Amino acid sequence: MTIFSKIIAGEIPSYKCAEDDRFYAFLDINPVAKGHTLVVPKQEVDYLFDLDDDTLAAMMVFSKRVAAAIRAAYPCRKVGMAVLGLEVNHAHIHLIPLQSEGDMDFRKEKLQLPAEEMQAIADNILSHFSA
Ligand code: 5GP
Repeated sequence: MTIFSKIIAGEIPSYKCAEDDRFYAFLDINPVAKGHTLVVPKQEVDYLFDLDDDTLAAMMVFSKRVAAAIRAAYPCRKVGMAVLGLEVNHAHIHLIPLQSEGDMDFRKEKLQLPAEEMQAIADNILSHFSA
């Protein structure tokens, strides 16, 4: 079971931003920007492009809805999307509110936000997510 499957199952706590029957979105624990969110399929597949076509397409549509909620909660120029997957072997999409190109830099020092602020960010995004 991957760490993300444990998060989806509620065995490990997370700051939930959105959910439906197939996908789960939660704040990245080491955000590069406020509102940095991960979208994962509940199906445990390592590599994003190994997902079947229908699941991959549905994940993009779900991510679109999460991006809209992020933007409503945190006005930004655009929400950027990235796929790395070099650390956690469970397919996921990074959604990051962008004000400038540097907001997408994964090499820079990550933000350290208090738990109450992380919870408030997640609640704000969740409140804008249309189920
Ligand atoms: P990647 O696999 O895309 O290279 O990086 C995995 C991402 O997942 C990282 O940005 C990391 O901060 C995040 N991450 C790793 N473990 C956890 C966790 O237990 N909880 C949360 N919320 N994020 C995690």
